[in-house]
Amino acid sequence: MNIRKIQDIIEPQFVTEGAGVRLRRSIATRKLDYLDPFLLFDHFGSDDPKDYLAGFPMHPHRGIETVTYMMAGLVDHKDSMGNSGTVGAGDVQWMTSGSGIMHEEMPRPKDGMMYGFQLWVNLPARLKMTPPRYQDVPSVGIPEVARTDGVRIRVIAGEVDGVRGAVTEIYADPEYLDVSVPAGRSFGQPVPEGHAAFVYVFEGEGAFGGDAGEGGTTISATSLAVFGDGDSVVVQARNRPVRFLMISGRPLGEPVARYGPFVMNTKEEIAQALADLRNGTFVK
Ligand code: MN
Repeated sequence: MNIRKIQDIIEPQFVTEGAGVRLRRSIATRKLDYLDPFLLFDHFGSDDPKDYLAGFPMHPHRGIETVTYMMAGLVDHKDSMGNSGTVGAGDVQWMTSGSGIMHEEMPRPKDGMMYGFQLWVNLPARLKMTPPRYQDVPSVGIPEVARTDGVRIRVIAGEVDGVRGAVTEIYADPEYLDVSVPAGRSFGQPVPEGHAAFVYVFEGEGAFGGDAGEGGTTISATSLAVFGDGDSVVVQARNRPVRFLMISGRPLGEPVARYGPFVMNTKEEIAQALADLRNGTFVK
C-alpha cells in the first residue's frame, strides 16, 4: 500500500459571484488555479440571506460539468432545455453542460439555513461539444455505507465497499464521497494511482495521509487539502469527529482555455462560444 500524503493545504478565499453571492473558493484561486480535472471548488453557506439571495441568474456554461451538492437549504434551477427543479439538502445535481446550456441557480434558505458545494469538472476535447445532460439524484437515491466502526460514507460517485455511487458514466471516472468519521476511528479508501485527489474538511478535524494510528497532517474545518500520488487514502479522527468530502478523478492532460463559465482547449473556441452567445446560436 502506498498511502498518499498531503501535498498542499488551501485556505478558502471569500469571493463574490453571480449577482452577489458571497462564497468560499478553494480551487480557481491564486494558490490553486487548476487541479486537473477539477476547475473550481466553491463552498456557499451563510445564515445571512443577504449573502446569497441574489443568486446566479440566467448564465451560460460550455465545456464543463458542474456538480452541486447541498447540505441545507435549497437551490431552485431552470435551464434552456426546459428543465426545472429544486436541489435540496442531501441532493446532488451533476450537470454536463457539453456544447452549452443557459441556466439559473437561485439559493434560498430552509429553516434559516443554506449550505452547499459546487465543483466544476473539466471535459476532454472530444466531449466539450457533447449534448448537455443532467443527473439529478435526490438524497434517498444516494447510497450510504455504514461501516461497523461507525464510519459513514455517502457515495455520490465512485465505489466504496462494493457499493456503487449514484452518479455514473462521467468521463473523469470521479469519486465523490461525503465521509463522516467518529472520534477515535479511521477511514481508508483505495484511490487509483495518477488520479488527482483532494479533501474538503467542513466539520471537525482529522489527520490525513498518515499510516494507521500514526502521523499524517492535521486538517481542520474549513480547508481543502490536496493529496500527493499513491494508491490509497487514510484519515484518522482523534479526539474529535471529522466530516469531509473526498474527491478524486483522472487528469485530462490537455490545454485549458478558460473564460468565466466557458472552459475549452483553445482561445479560438472561447471566441466561438462568445460569438455563439451574441448570435443566439449558443444552445444547440
Ligand atoms: Mn451555473
